[in-house]
Amino acid sequence: MAAPVHLTFFGGLGEIGRNCAALEAHGRIVMLDCGQLFPDDMPGVDAVLPDFDWLLERADRLEACVVTHAHEDHIGGLPYLLRALGERGATLPIYGSPFTLGMVRGKLKFAGVPVPDLIPLGDYDRLPIGPFDCEFLPVTHSTPSGLMTVFHTPQGRILHSSDFKLDPTPIDGRVTDLDRVREIAADGGIRLLLADSTNAGSAGSSTSESTVGPVLRQVFDENEGRRIIIGAFSSHVHRIQQVADAAAATGRKLVVMGPSMVRNTTLARELGLLNISDKMLARDSDLDDLDPARTCIVCTGSQGESRAALNLMGQGRHRFVTVGDTDTVVFSSHPIPGNEAAVARLHNSLARRGARLVHSGQLGVHTTGHGKADELLALHDAADPDLFIPVHGEYSHLVAHHELALGRGMDEDRVLRCTDGDRVKLTGEGVAHAGRVPDGYVMVDEAGRPVSVDLLEERRAISGEGFVLVRVLVDGRKGRLAEPPMVESRGWVEPAAREDWHGQVVAEVTEALAGPLADGSRDAHELSRLTRRATGRLVSRKTGRKPTLVPVVEVR
Ligand SMILES: [Zn+2]
Ligand SMILES: [Zn+2]
Repeated sequence: MAAPVHLTFFGGLGEIGRNCAALEAHGRIVMLDCGQLFPDDMPGVDAVLPDFDWLLERADRLEACVVTHAHEDHIGGLPYLLRALGERGATLPIYGSPFTLGMVRGKLKFAGVPVPDLIPLGDYDRLPIGPFDCEFLPVTHSTPSGLMTVFHTPQGRILHSSDFKLDPTPIDGRVTDLDRVREIAADGGIRLLLADSTNAGSAGSSTSESTVGPVLRQVFDENEGRRIIIGAFSSHVHRIQQVADAAAATGRKLVVMGPSMVRNTTLARELGLLNISDKMLARDSDLDDLDPARTCIVCTGSQGESRAALNLMGQGRHRFVTVGDTDTVVFSSHPIPGNEAAVARLHNSLARRGARLVHSGQLGVHTTGHGKADELLALHDAADPDLFIPVHGEYSHLVAHHELALGRGMDEDRVLRCTDGDRVKLTGEGVAHAGRVPDGYVMVDEAGRPVSVDLLEERRAISGEGFVLVRVLVDGRKGRLAEPPMVESRGWVEPAAREDWHGQVVAEVTEALAGPLADGSRDAHELSRLTRRATGRLVSRKTGRKPTLVPVVEVR
């Protein structure tokens, strides 16, 4: 009987971000992607990672990590995982396309993490990785050189789609190869399909990336005489190519702005994925010498990220760019769910400075990198899998993809709904749930240090309601307060009214402690509890707030 294959999902099934899975046979483990999630409303949290403990406990059995493409939700967790493995004296070879590996190398160097073996993969490469024979097929997506993976396993082939769309006219001509999928399916079949669910709930098909170029060109023509600033994803090399083409055609210099934008365009040019001539490029520090009407700036921050170039421009705090009424700002992206409010704020701050705005709500200056329902169905048709697990998406996307598969005629018992932390077992019988692994959010700060749920809760409480600190000094011999309580607060009441409120807290606490002290109470813990109760009573009764209360009691 053939050995079972286990799959474990650490993230990305229930939210967009931190995609990370493991495939396992004969006790040997191959990871598939290692991403991070961008935190939403988590003060002081820089990244949200999968819980790596299960993997770290099995470090000696980890054979490699295959990274499908260069997006943060697929590679952003690698610095943290590799650092943790390094602390255990272990390492992890990483397989990916040259562009993806270039991005990984840049991330690791930036984080100061030793770079492990990076093994480049080409389209149609077939090679053993860990216990599996693996075959890599090209997919089109919103970053170059994405790879679909066929894992040849003891339980048949597992096809992982990676993030993909079906674009008949991609900028680099590199199309998602469903013909090869069909061939593999005809020659022995696909046992299990794992496929991108991001746009499963959107009907029809995505539009081709090459439709964006002419729209950009139109925007350039209509904004003759004005400076053009374009916000885009720094990993979207083909979008940057189209911006550069429109700039070249209209005689503009291109200024590439923002560290990640500069890093990625440099890498893509080195690899021949981006074709921009040296002579049309200018530096941000040259902007003062350039004619604004003959300048195009391409920069990061189109998602409203607070520290990125566009937001600094909106705030009037950018070193080289002051936005005004002769600027046109193009948002060549669509807000990722959760970023809508930040993007709207950015639109407003730029508009207030007089900039003319162009965004995807008005014109086709953006198209998605994820296939919609018809494209997903085309993949299902080509692969015609025995079994299916929807992956990569918010929970509602996974449900929509599940329903698409059923609508195509798949039997209910051939689709397995999984979510973060699920472990499943593939055997001759089919695929079934086989336990759970920890799936909690692992939050880290800018320096990579962990941020606990308790710490985050404290930050949230203080940011919403403020705090009140009451310091009480007790004269233990005389059985009374050595001095009136001292009160400090922030974020609780209006600063102008603070003194008055503090006086009320002093009176309330003094009164609450007088009796117990006279009765002989000297226990700092008990007196602290009484102080907290007296303060809390006043605070909630009179101000209706719930600030964090910090009693500090000392008995001398
Ligand atoms: Zn992606
Ligand atoms: Zn993704």
